[in-house]
Amino acid sequence: MTKAVVLHSGGQDSTTCLAWAIREYGHDNVTALSIEYGQRHHVELEQAAVICDALGVRAVELRLRDLLGDLAGGALTDPERAVQLHATDGWQADHDLPSTFIPGRNLLFFTAAAAYGIPRGCERLVTGVCEADRAGYPDCRAGFVDAAEEAIALAMDTPNFLIDAPLLELDKAGTWLLAETLGVLGLVVEQSHTCYQGDRSKRYAWGYGCGECPACTERATGFGLAFPMPVQQ
Ligand SMILES: [Zn+2]
Repeated sequence: MTKAVVLHSGGQDSTTCLAWAIREYGHDNVTALSIEYGQRHHVELEQAAVICDALGVRAVELRLRDLLGDLAGGALTDPERAVQLHATDGWQADHDLPSTFIPGRNLLFFTAAAAYGIPRGCERLVTGVCEADRAGYPDCRAGFVDAAEEAIALAMDTPNFLIDAPLLELDKAGTWLLAETLGVLGLVVEQSHTCYQGDRSKRYAWGYGCGECPACTERATGFGLAFPMPVQQ
């Protein structure tokens, strides 16, 4: 019996991964781990709890706010900074990264999830990282995932430890289609939250959001490619 801990933010990708993990490892062997790191809004974490309730999986929240809040940060944690696909100031601009990139975030998240899961018998960590994301975060690439897997296995004396990244090579349309295959398309549309602005006041075919930020436009474009509207005759 393999147990898995799933990094679950409440967004589209990690919610799809949670459903994937339930299919792979069985309902009772999956724990959803959400991390509170000083996000500029709480909507994602609230939706994460709603989604775990709907799927009936064990949910745990870890608080890394003090740690990540004091590090370099980015527009995800600093409301003073604009959400930009290409940052125009700060360290992120020097590295041609989005303003939303938080240095070290996924490395810390993977370490925290493994430190939580491994002593509880979880030899799998499931993450929704995706190389094809327009954001191009360096800690969402295969080389990083492989290196983190090896480092954690060594650091925590768990040679069988593996990181599952089922979305790694999928684009957003592929992730939408996977959600449909897993039978959670309605749940992902209605309850997952991706919008950087924390806006759930407007409902589109692809779910709730401001409809304008980079996360909303990527989610909307992927949905349109996955499920094209029939042409009106
Ligand atoms: Zn938005």
